[in-house]
Amino acid sequence: MRMIFIGPPGAGKGTQATALVQRYGIPHISTGDMLRAAVAAKTELGVKVEAVMNSGQLVGDDLMVGLVKERIAAPDAAKGFLLDGFPRTVPQAKALTDAGVQLDVVLLLEVPDDLLASRVTGRRKDPETGTIYHLQFDPPSADIAHRLVQRDDDTEVKVRERLGAYHAQTAPIVPIYEEAGLLLRIDGVGSPSEVAGRIGAALDRHTNR
Ligand code: AMP
Repeated sequence: MRMIFIGPPGAGKGTQATALVQRYGIPHISTGDMLRAAVAAKTELGVKVEAVMNSGQLVGDDLMVGLVKERIAAPDAAKGFLLDGFPRTVPQAKALTDAGVQLDVVLLLEVPDDLLASRVTGRRKDPETGTIYHLQFDPPSADIAHRLVQRDDDTEVKVRERLGAYHAQTAPIVPIYEEAGLLLRIDGVGSPSEVAGRIGAALDRHTNR
C-alpha cells in the first residue's frame, strides 16, 4: 500500500497516520518529523533547514525530493509507505511521478481554516511515546502532562504563515491526484475516532471497487 496524506496543518494527519500504518504494516514517513529530528541532532541538513521551518515556509524542492527518494528506497518501504507532508508542491508531486512511484491512494483530510488555528496552538506531543494530545480537545493525564512539548512552529503567527503556504503551494497538487483517480476526500471535522471511521470506510470502498 503506497499512500499519501495531504491536509492543512492541524488537520489531524499525524494522529490518523498512527492507525493507518498499523492497519497496513507500512512505515509512517513524515517529512516534518524527519526534518525536526535533523534540527534536534544539529546535522548538516538540520542546520540548513531550521530557519525556514521556524518561519513557517517550505524547504526547497530539490532538498526534499532527494530526502524522500532516499527514504522510500529503504528496505522497510519496499511493500509500501504512508507519506505525510510530502509532496507539498507541484514540482514535488511531479518528481514522485517521474521517479516511477506508483501510488494506490491519496487521502485529503479537509478541515475549514477557522478550526485549524485552535487545533494547532493547543497541540502537544509526548516525546516518549509520540502520542499527540490537545490541551482542550484531548487532554493528557496529569502524570504525563509535565513532559509534553509544543512544536516551535505551532504558534498563532506561524500557523497563519503555514496555512498560507498550504493554500498557495500545496492545494494545487490536489487536482493532479483527483484527475489520476487516486484522491479520497475525507471530512476531518469531528473526534479522532469519527475521522478514523470515515477514513477506514473510504479506503474499504476504494480498495474493493
Ligand atoms: P509538518 O510537520 O509536515 O507540518 O512540517 C513542518 C515544516 O517542515 C513545514 O512547515 C516545512 O517548513 C517543512 N517541510 C516538511 N515537509 C516539507 C516538504 N515536503 N516540502 C517543503 N517543506 C517541508
